[in-house]
Amino acid sequence: MIILSIETSADETAAAVTQGRRRLSSLLYSQVLLYKQWGGIVPSIAKRAHEERIDQIIVGAVKRAHLNANFDQAMKKIDAIGVTYGPGLAIALEVGINKAKELARKYQIRLIAVNHLEGHIYANFIQNRRGMPPRRFTFPYLALLVSGGHTAIVIFRRHLDYQVIGETKDDAVGEALDKAARILGFGYPGGPIIENLADEVDNQDKYLFPRPMARSDNFNFSYSGLKTAFFYRVRKMSEKEKLANLRYLASSFQEAAFDSLIIKLEKAIKKTKINRILVGGGVSANFYLRKKIRSLVKKYQGRAFFPPQRDFSGDNAAMIGVVAYFKARQNQYVENIDRLDRQPRLAIGEFNT
Ligand code: AMP
Ligand code: MG
Repeated sequence: MIILSIETSADETAAAVTQGRRRLSSLLYSQVLLYKQWGGIVPSIAKRAHEERIDQIIVGAVKRAHLNANFDQAMKKIDAIGVTYGPGLAIALEVGINKAKELARKYQIRLIAVNHLEGHIYANFIQNRRGMPPRRFTFPYLALLVSGGHTAIVIFRRHLDYQVIGETKDDAVGEALDKAARILGFGYPGGPIIENLADEVDNQDKYLFPRPMARSDNFNFSYSGLKTAFFYRVRKMSEKEKLANLRYLASSFQEAAFDSLIIKLEKAIKKTKINRILVGGGVSANFYLRKKIRSLVKKYQGRAFFPPQRDFSGDNAAMIGVVAYFKARQNQYVENIDRLDRQPRLAIGEFNT
């Protein structure tokens, strides 16, 4: 089964062609450079940038899948179109959905609406053309979602079956890293900048910022208190002192932010007795976080999985194609194309097509 997928929920315009779990092509235009000076996504810019690039990205993905040199002929080999319908930025989602509908009508192809967060979980199972890595599904898993918009722990019981057991009460972890970088005077996205600064001082924890919600007896997260503590700590410093300590500040912030992920993940492992962990979302690209998760899971004789290529941690369309494939196997197609609408606040496990 060959699926063309489209993803435009935030600042990545992405399209992919997949066959089952195999990625035949995956293309992406990232808008991050447009936002460097803004500190985050600007909706009106995002909409226009998606509109400007989407055709090119889709044509490119179809071409690179080598189905046929002619686009119309290649489209005849596509069995379904998968599209992200939420959660995300409403006017950005709309660009992808409208394009998916247009292609579905023109080429008479069935549509599958995909939840972006499920995509981040299934990103762990994307394979290359040769079916590597093999990674079988061995349920149940705990999924840790760490992105710019979400921080959650989810029990993933079987295909397309999720239970959210913890989530952030305010900012997402990626968002917190972005804000910390901004407070230090850097641009967007902040996660990779903080990672590099912290690495230069071997991730030392000089400032010991608070570990949000560490003692609370649930699996939820909160990052606004940490952000505030960081803001006031930096504000107390002279410019000179701040510059001299940039790396230590970044490192201590990252440590506090990741420690609270580890604390809650450990609670969840103990409580659910599930020790197979899937990690997804932009922040899962972070090598230091990966190391921390691996050593936690080792304590419980479990295994931690990360997307098989670092660029599948962030937004991409191949992950949407993999979810679409499992939805197709359960016959979960969009029944009425006209009624498919964006769902900016779609929750994981929520069915809304
Ligand atoms: P997503 O929302 O899945 O598109 O991921 C975007 C978020 O991931 C942003 O908040 C980035 O700062 C964050 N991010 C990307 N790369 C890294 C990294 N290497 N370390 C930490 N955070 C990262
Ligand atoms: Mg995302």
